Amino acid sequence: MDPIKSDVLVIGTGGAGLRASIAAHERGAEVVVVCKATAGFNNATVHAEGGFRAAMEGLSPEEHLEDTVRVGFNVNDPEMVQVFAEEGGERLLELKRFGVEMRVHRGGISVGKFPTLAAWV
Ligand SMILES: Cc1cc2nc3c(=O)[nH]c(=O)nc-3n(C[C@H](O)[C@H](O)[C@H](O)COP(=O)(O)OP(=O)(O)OC[C@H]3O[C@@H](n4cnc5c(N)ncnc54)[C@H](O)[C@@H]3O)c2cc1C
Repeated sequence: MDPIKSDVLVIGTGGAGLRASIAAHERGAEVVVVCKATAGFNNATVHAEGGFRAAMEGLSPEEHLEDTVRVGFNVNDPEMVQVFAEEGGERLLELKRFGVEMRVHRGGISVGKFPTLAAWV
């Protein structure tokens, strides 16, 4: 088998892997993505079923940070949670650029058949 060469190797095709692949490609890198199953499946992202929390539409980054730490039983990485709370909303809205159709609510977005965020906002 011939070796495959790339500038960037992404392992895994959940949300993080796919978004990182796009970012690297947009910066001119040749990207190879490796996954254990059909790309986009067999990961937590697809099992979450389309509900994404973020500080938006009136939910403040401080509130989102507090919620995230509380449901994470205080074992979250504080720096990661800070970034998540501050940038999450903007990052989610960015997905429109890739054709993701979404409903925007206070405290997050929902996509596909995900019923509503009302229950968990
Ligand atoms: C039922 C459910 C509900 C959730 N609800 C929410 C929610 O409401 N709000 C929220 O913020 N988060 C929620 N989450 C969590 C959220 O979905 C995850 O934190 C997020 O999807 C993680 O994305 P990821 O790309 O980092 O990982 P994943 O989507 O899990 O992707 C990881 C990828 O890496 C691959 N991989 C792993 N190990 C290897 C290996 N050794 N070799 C090759 N490939 C490998 C996997 O196959 C997969 O493709 C939920 C998760 C689940 C399962």
